[in-house]
Amino acid sequence: MQVFKFGGASVKDAEGVKNVYRIIEQYQQEKLLVVISAMGKTTNALEALTRSYIAQSDETPRLLQEVRDYHAGIIQELFPPADPVHDEIANVYVELEWILEEEPHDDDDYIYDQIVSAGEILSTRIVAAYLRKMGLKARWVDARGYIQTDNTYREGNVDWETTAQLINRDLRPVLEQEIIITQGFIGGTSENYTTTLGREGSDYSAAIFASCLDAEAVTIWKDVPGVMNADPKLFPDTHKYGQLPYAEALEMTYYGATVIHPKTIKPLQNKKILLQVKPFLALEETGTVIGKEESVVFDVPAVILKKNQILLSVTTKDFSFIAETNLSAIFAAFAEHQVKINTMQNSAMTFSCCVDDEPQKTDALIEVLKKEYKVLYNRGLELLTIRHYTNEVIERLTRDRQVLIEQRSRNTVQYVLK
Ligand code: ASP
Ligand code: MG
Repeated sequence: MQVFKFGGASVKDAEGVKNVYRIIEQYQQEKLLVVISAMGKTTNALEALTRSYIAQSDETPRLLQEVRDYHAGIIQELFPPADPVHDEIANVYVELEWILEEEPHDDDDYIYDQIVSAGEILSTRIVAAYLRKMGLKARWVDARGYIQTDNTYREGNVDWETTAQLINRDLRPVLEQEIIITQGFIGGTSENYTTTLGREGSDYSAAIFASCLDAEAVTIWKDVPGVMNADPKLFPDTHKYGQLPYAEALEMTYYGATVIHPKTIKPLQNKKILLQVKPFLALEETGTVIGKEESVVFDVPAVILKKNQILLSVTTKDFSFIAETNLSAIFAAFAEHQVKINTMQNSAMTFSCCVDDEPQKTDALIEVLKKEYKVLYNRGLELLTIRHYTNEVIERLTRDRQVLIEQRSRNTVQYVLK
């Protein structure tokens, strides 16, 4: 049993959908569950729609129309006017319009999930209908009935037990006969509200389905040759890893390598399910295989750059040490505001750390910390992580840059850069 995942870039236009068909067609003898993200930049467009609706701006109808037009263009290239897909898609918009006609609910994160999830519903409706039109036995499945989460909107925590029960009860038998097409990124609560798993969370969805079904492997089809040692857009002379141990992949994604969502690795490692990252435009290529036991010799440093970082320094006001009591209070505030620490350091009176700058969360955190501590911050920074570093690479990447924090261990060096 295999799980495939196609991201937004692989279904950004009609050509992409046809390519997905070509790939799946080759595997139609396998038991296959396919997870798909929203098409192209749809999630960003739906985020803009959500903000506009919450602000009750006049732009809302136009933003919805843009989402409609984009999908209509793709549908028109793939289907004749009488195909049932048109009704399925129309229903998705009816539901969106119901939401948009009401007064906004007072929980913005709840609204976000109800609206933004439409991107995945649209993409999977279209792909499933196209596969059927091309003669494959494809069944559309609503992931919200299977991936069960708590009601932490925008970052749902999976209830693994219920999720595994539902998937095994209902989906395992279907896979004997049909290919399942379902959504990444979205889940549902016990009260049937929609949740999302965090941006770029479709990889994680694929891992959840794979874990619950004890799949042999998950394949993430991407617009890159595999897992690279650096982003080809940022650094020249990149190298593709043929194989990676789970731990190495986990470290790389944790530090900000965007090729795989960081939450993907754990469920797969726990069940020893292989994770393959393959280029969707070159089926014969092997990509990267994650999880083979033989260790890899790292002769190539991995370079990961995280942008839009904020450096926070939290200092005691009364010259007391920033010792365990203070640190646990500070960490509790970070946890409560769901702010994840990317790198940290401390001195006698100051705790410094670098986090993703999402002002919604970081501003609220800073306000709370200021009640007890002196808080200074510096925005618009970059966090550079180099695994298996060499002095030459460090020199090349930090030359002419102002380094605010440096942190070095045996395998990893990190720089917070201005
Ligand atoms: N469509 C969602 C996003 O863009 C989930 C994903 O692509 O993995 O964040
Ligand atoms: Mg994506």
